[in-house]
Amino acid sequence: MGENGRPRVVVLGGGFAGLGAARKLKDAPVDVVLIDRHNYHTFQPLLYQVATDLIDTDAVGHPLRDLFHDQPNALVHNVAVTGIDLERKEVQLDGMEPLAYDYLVLGLGAEVNFFGAEGAPEHAFPMYTLPHAVRLKEHILERWEAADRDPALVADGALNIVVVGGGPTGVESVGALAELYRSNFAKDYPNLPQDEAHLTLVEAGPMVFAMFKQDIRSYTERVLEKFGVEVLTGEVVASVAPTRVTLKSGRVLKAHTLVWGAGMQANPTVEQLGVELARGKRVHVDPDLRIPGRPEVFAVGDIAWIVEGKGDQALPQLGSVALQSGEWAGENIARLVDGKETTPFEYKDKGTMATIGRGAAVVQFRRGRTMKGKAAFLAWGAVHLALLSTGEDRAKAVVDWTWAGMTHERPNRISVKAESI
Ligand SMILES: Cc1cc2nc3c(=O)[nH]c(=O)nc-3n(C[C@H](O)[C@H](O)[C@H](O)COP(=O)(O)OP(=O)(O)OC[C@H]3O[C@@H](n4cnc5c(N)ncnc54)[C@H](O)[C@@H]3O)c2cc1C
Repeated sequence: MGENGRPRVVVLGGGFAGLGAARKLKDAPVDVVLIDRHNYHTFQPLLYQVATDLIDTDAVGHPLRDLFHDQPNALVHNVAVTGIDLERKEVQLDGMEPLAYDYLVLGLGAEVNFFGAEGAPEHAFPMYTLPHAVRLKEHILERWEAADRDPALVADGALNIVVVGGGPTGVESVGALAELYRSNFAKDYPNLPQDEAHLTLVEAGPMVFAMFKQDIRSYTERVLEKFGVEVLTGEVVASVAPTRVTLKSGRVLKAHTLVWGAGMQANPTVEQLGVELARGKRVHVDPDLRIPGRPEVFAVGDIAWIVEGKGDQALPQLGSVALQSGEWAGENIARLVDGKETTPFEYKDKGTMATIGRGAAVVQFRRGRTMKGKAAFLAWGAVHLALLSTGEDRAKAVVDWTWAGMTHERPNRISVKAESI
């Protein structure tokens, strides 16, 4: 029990899923405790724009405490979860007393999966957190400045970037990088040979965007070609070193930067739960989003294997699935506290979307309808603006996007490091 003898709902993760659950409990007679290892909510769909200098970190990270000023029944703790004991109904935290719960919402998301590629954990640049995006941004700026000082580095691959993964993360990353290279760096570094700054997309399967229909794939190929991106399909990254990427075919690519957008797996805490896990280590849930046999534990968002109806396909790991499932879990907990039955989750499809560049996006709805180009870009904007945490965030995002769209400007091409004071 929490303060005042009310049931305590512990929500793990302040992503779309955790926030959705915590906020839906605003008027319920419960105490909500939200835990996150960061003191901010990360708006992952805009991480590429941070990495490519279009927007600053505060457009993507929002203070979590700020989001609960109007929710007196909620507390936020900035602490890492180290363990979950389903038997004792208790969560272990790094440097804080364990926390008992009456209801638990698991919304810890997913993390990168390097599929055992040698050297990848040390040298690859994944793109799942704000520190990842900032690290990549700093690295790219540093490599261009290094090449400016010593142009011999260009032939060694200092400006080359290999992006792994032909799914949305890889394609969106390489598209954003191409715009940064072709629109901005071409003017910033007129003395460097721009045609020797290669962008390569490596995909293990026979095509990029395998999850999309043929018309979207053809459109994407055309856009990437226009951006000067080389696409290598049927190639797998075997190992990564600071300046070289070796493919399983034996081919070696000269590149000082490898962006990893190839795979993900559920947060590692799931391995301690003692429950059977689905593909990608995602946690199986019943139709009402509870873990089978654990009536007080819900799993939502990227960490959960959510199957609607009788199918065996899980819903995709998307922001709108995370937000809607989180909100549904919050509502179900409020129903249980009120002595009512839970209800099965119903997802309102917003389409699977990806932005390849400014004015170039794709959308595919579950029934097969597709959109491409500017219309899809606007649809992406509308759906994702709705996911932003506050009206203030939305206003900021609209201003930044509109400005960037009109001017091609990427005003964050500056490197500010504490050690350079
Ligand atoms: C680069 C990128 C681009 C994307 N683009 C899109 C897009 O355009 N459209 C779209 O719909 N979806 C997109 N997605 C997917 C979407 O962002 C995710 O599906 C969504 O964020 C999942 O929400 P979640 O709440 O389940 O997990 P997350 O958003 O990952 O939140 C999990 C939270 O748990 C916290 N956490 C993790 N481990 C611990 C721990 N041990 N202790 C304490 N806290 C912890 C994290 O700090 C995080 O705040 C993108 C994802 C990425 C990575």
